[in-house]
Amino acid sequence: MGYIQSFDPWKSAFCTCPAKYSLNPYTGCAHRCLYCYATSFIKNFYYPRPKKEFLKVIKKELEKLPKGALLSLSNSSDPYQPLEKIFHYTRNFLEMLLRKDFKILIITKSSLILRDLELLKNIRCAVSITLTSKSLNSKLEPGAPSYEERLEAIKVLSQRGIPVSVRLDPIIPKLNEEELLEILEEVAPWIKHLTVSTYKAKFDSFKRLGNAFPELKKDWEKLYFKDGEKYHGSFYLKKELRYTLIKPFYEKAQRYGLSFATCREILKDFENPKRCDGSFLIPNIVY
Ligand code: SF4
Repeated sequence: MGYIQSFDPWKSAFCTCPAKYSLNPYTGCAHRCLYCYATSFIKNFYYPRPKKEFLKVIKKELEKLPKGALLSLSNSSDPYQPLEKIFHYTRNFLEMLLRKDFKILIITKSSLILRDLELLKNIRCAVSITLTSKSLNSKLEPGAPSYEERLEAIKVLSQRGIPVSVRLDPIIPKLNEEELLEILEEVAPWIKHLTVSTYKAKFDSFKRLGNAFPELKKDWEKLYFKDGEKYHGSFYLKKELRYTLIKPFYEKAQRYGLSFATCREILKDFENPKRCDGSFLIPNIVY
C-alpha cells in the first residue's frame, strides 16, 4: 500500500466527509492523547517514527493523483508533532504542492504550523485545529502544545488569511463539556466552521482514561458499556445523550453565525454533509 490512501477505505455509512485522500508523514504520534483511537490499530503508536523514504515515495504518488484532489494531512497522526522539527517532512511535502492544483486540509494540535505560514499562503489549503480542554491538557494530551499555544495559532492563521476551522472534541461526558462550551466563545471570532463529536470508546483508550480519571471510571462504564450503543468496534454514548451533549454547541454556533457539523454521530439534525471537515473553506484559486 502507498502512503497516500483513500480516506475511509471502509466507506463507513456514518462518515459525511467529501471524497478525499489521507496522508501521514509520520507513523504514530508523540502528542499521546489518552482518547486517541489510532492506538487501537497502529503498533507502538506513542513511539512515532518518520515514514521510510517519505518524500521520494510521495513525489511519485502525487503524480498519479487526479487534478484538484483533496488531501487530508493527517488523520492518524499529527503532521506538526515534535518529529517535524527534525525531519521537516510536512514542510517539504507542502513545498511540493506550490503552484499545483491540489487541495490540502491540515489537521493539527500544534502551533508549529506557524513556522510554515508564508508557505501556506501560497497553497490551496485550510487548517483545522483541535481543542479538547484548557485545564486538563497536560493530563489528556501530555505531549501536545498547550491550549494557549493553539489559540494563538488559530488567531495568527486567521489574521493572515488562512481559512481556519476548529474541532472541539472529543466531548467526554462529565469531564469537559462545560469547558468546551467556554472555549467555543473564545475561538468563535476567529473561525468560520466548527466540528464537534463525542468520545467513542475503544478498550485501550478507555483504559487510559479510566486510569487517569478513576473517579469517573464507574460512570463512564455505565454510560458506554451498559447504556451505550456499539458500532463497528466502538462504544458510543446512547443517541439521546449524544444529542443532549451536542445541542448546546449547535445553538452557540448558530448564534455566532458559524457553519456547524458533527463527526460520525449519526444525528440527522446536526449533519452537514460535505462540509463536516472544514475543507469547503479551501480557496478555489491556484496560487
Ligand atoms: S494528536 Fe491526534 S493522532 Fe496524535 S495522539 Fe492526539 S489524537 Fe492521536
